[in-house]
Amino acid sequence: MSRRVIGIAPAQPKARPQRCMPVDQQRSLAGRYPLWVKGLSLLAFTWAFLGWLNDAWFYQFDNSILLNRYTEYGLIVAFGIWRIAAEKNPYTRKRLMLLVANVAVLWWLIPWLFPFIEPYVGYLGVLPAFPSLHTPGTLTFFLVLAAVFLFGRRVICGWNCPCVGIREVVGFPFRQADHVPRGKWAWRLRHLKWLWFALYLGAMAAMVHPANNQTAGYLGFFALIVVLPYFATMLLSPWIGNRGYCRFLCPYGATFGLLNKAGAFRIDYAVDTCTQCGLCEKVCDMGIPVWQMGAATGKIDTTECMGCGRCVTECPTSSLAFHDVRTLLRPALRQDRAWLRRLADWTRPAPRWRAAGFALVLALALIGAWHYSGLIGSGAELISNLGALCGLPVSTW
Ligand code: SF4
Ligand code: SF4
Ligand code: SF4
Repeated sequence: MSRRVIGIAPAQPKARPQRCMPVDQQRSLAGRYPLWVKGLSLLAFTWAFLGWLNDAWFYQFDNSILLNRYTEYGLIVAFGIWRIAAEKNPYTRKRLMLLVANVAVLWWLIPWLFPFIEPYVGYLGVLPAFPSLHTPGTLTFFLVLAAVFLFGRRVICGWNCPCVGIREVVGFPFRQADHVPRGKWAWRLRHLKWLWFALYLGAMAAMVHPANNQTAGYLGFFALIVVLPYFATMLLSPWIGNRGYCRFLCPYGATFGLLNKAGAFRIDYAVDTCTQCGLCEKVCDMGIPVWQMGAATGKIDTTECMGCGRCVTECPTSSLAFHDVRTLLRPALRQDRAWLRRLADWTRPAPRWRAAGFALVLALALIGAWHYSGLIGSGAELISNLGALCGLPVSTW
């Protein structure tokens, strides 16, 4: 006969404290930030602008990194580490890691430490260092166009451009709804960039002509009307949001956007599961009326989408999914919320190893940069000094 023990509760397994929020609950709605954070952000924008002004016009301070064109990239790395640590959405965190590493290596360290001229077509006002991701006529630019055709504008506007780098990591306090213009009039303003695109076509035409006073003058003018709004829109972030330049003015973004439309990229939309909660529109920094466009056309296929993936990873009903060349090759593949989040799940071993690899590459790159800037000695001296510090006999290195 079985005996029931009354009054003794079975031992309950202890709930383990969670180290971080489950990935399916992590959100990328813009946070609210105090004034000092916004002030710091504007200060960093101003510093980047002064660095460019000093390097291009003033020539007042001869400094390797603190006040030249690479200042911006140094700021992206510094703020990027902060943003990566604070980011709640695992896919965005992964994208920021890729973005910061690409800016550090492709925009800063390679052109600065190993400057060489890559093959290009036509005449350019300033010779392109390698890799020239935005410079039309260069080998890299054609490769970028091909990659955008296959994977969408995110190849450059999500993972590779210093503009998105500085605006996402330094300009993060201005993602908040009070700062980002939305609605019909703001959506119409996107057409402004086609004016810049027309001027860009003029620049391309100037490049294929032999150099003369007119072509040189036009290219100088074009550089100015691209660079000045580039920095001015950073300082206007409190009024136009952190992606104002990309949304309204960038001629390169317009080019990549056209390839977004022509190529394999789009976002698929499932009308039967969408609850019209509007979250996808709230997280979109480009001000795209996501679900409304989906409901009207069955997909989000627009020149404006920079492929950040926030809408896809936030959609609670998985009604949105990326579509690119991989979907064409594997029709069963559904790049929806679950797929993207699983891909970037921080608690799984593979992303941790990738993160460790990222940290190692970044650390080596920064050590290399400091060495070449004269702030530290050679790698051998560094190891020798570290060895001496730890009491190890490595002084013969
Ligand atoms: S829109 Fe232009 S500036 Fe913005 S990320 Fe794309 S290429 Fe860079
Ligand atoms: S987040 Fe998803 S469910 Fe909500 S409106 Fe957008 S597509 Fe529809
Ligand atoms: S539509 Fe989605 S993927 Fe495209 S820019 Fe907006 S949030 Fe990012």
